[in-house]
Amino acid sequence: MLKLTDGQCGLCAHFGEHDDSPQIVQIRINGQGSADVVAECGHPKNEPLQLKVTPISGCEGFTPARSA
Ligand code: SF4
Repeated sequence: MLKLTDGQCGLCAHFGEHDDSPQIVQIRINGQGSADVVAECGHPKNEPLQLKVTPISGCEGFTPARSA
């Protein structure tokens, strides 16, 4: 498990946005994730592309999950 920091997908509101699986929720709560977890990015610009990301990925569209 890798410790996540702001800007990384695992702490982003769009990470697995339409996926309520416990694994995705746990990553947000714990602030830790591994590179072998893959989820769809729900950012409006990425969603049509069906972009798949890991908790340690990131982009400029980062939106903190805690304030979403
Ligand atoms: S790719 Fe960007 S918008 Fe999508 S989950 Fe990661 S940080 Fe958030």
